Amino acid sequence: MSALAASPAAVEPVVRARNVHKAFDRLEVLKGIDLDVAPGETVVILGPSGSGKSTFLRCLNHLEAIDRGSIEVDGEQIGYRWHRGRLEALSERATTLQRRRIGMVFQQFNLYPHMTALENIIEAPIGVHGERRAEAVRHARELLDRVGLGAKADSYPAQLSGGQQQRVAIARALAIRPRLMLFDEPTSALDPELVGEVLATMRDLAGRGMTMIVVTHEIGFAREAADRVVFMDGGHIVEEGPPEAVLGNPQHPRTRAFLGRFI
Ligand code: ADP
Ligand code: MG
Repeated sequence: MSALAASPAAVEPVVRARNVHKAFDRLEVLKGIDLDVAPGETVVILGPSGSGKSTFLRCLNHLEAIDRGSIEVDGEQIGYRWHRGRLEALSERATTLQRRRIGMVFQQFNLYPHMTALENIIEAPIGVHGERRAEAVRHARELLDRVGLGAKADSYPAQLSGGQQQRVAIARALAIRPRLMLFDEPTSALDPELVGEVLATMRDLAGRGMTMIVVTHEIGFAREAADRVVFMDGGHIVEEGPPEAVLGNPQHPRTRAFLGRFI
């Protein structure tokens, strides 16, 4: 944190999630999630399969509508607005504008196969956000350099390794100049020898002060790069704290049982 930053209590969080509930039909997936993420903070979410991690990330950028509670990003309510004393759903257009603040990287890279790395990166800035082509290309090249792929601008996804494709996907997410980056198991689909290069890119991003929420099973990444580790189980946050505490000395039996698999 810079010397100019105010005391932590005075800093507005980038993410403020309160009592977030989400069900699919009768299946209650999120049962009251509270989470604040401070500017520049990297939060790693751990938890067993089915605990609601992906659903929570998807709620943060309104890919899923929440049933109860509230989510604010940068102080703005996500997916809804107050209108004449009532909450009403935002228009598609307003939702798109909100998503501009949030970059998301998935397990599957989902690059467009018929577009080069560079074209994949400039697509949203130009197509969705109306950025000028010359500026979008300049920024895309800068981002490719940053993820170590400056020489691959004109390669097609099929010509890139999985690790390289995921780094292009990270550059693509950064191209919209997000305020917040969400990662959902970004290395789970990769061959083991390619995991390190993607985690290194994410570590670099965290070191540059990006605000990040990362769902991963990479305990080493959590230990080294997280400011805070959150353990989710059954739609609840059951434990959270600094990585040393949650990983080194977990208090909740569920956290212990989960981490036991990695020791
Ligand atoms: P995690 O990412 O922690 O593995 P998810 O958030 O993907 O967990 O899923 C939590 C639960 O919600 C699972 O039981 C899953 O089957 C269910 N679920 C997720 N998305 C949907 C959906 N669109 N429709 C119905 N059930 C869903
Ligand atoms: Mg998931």
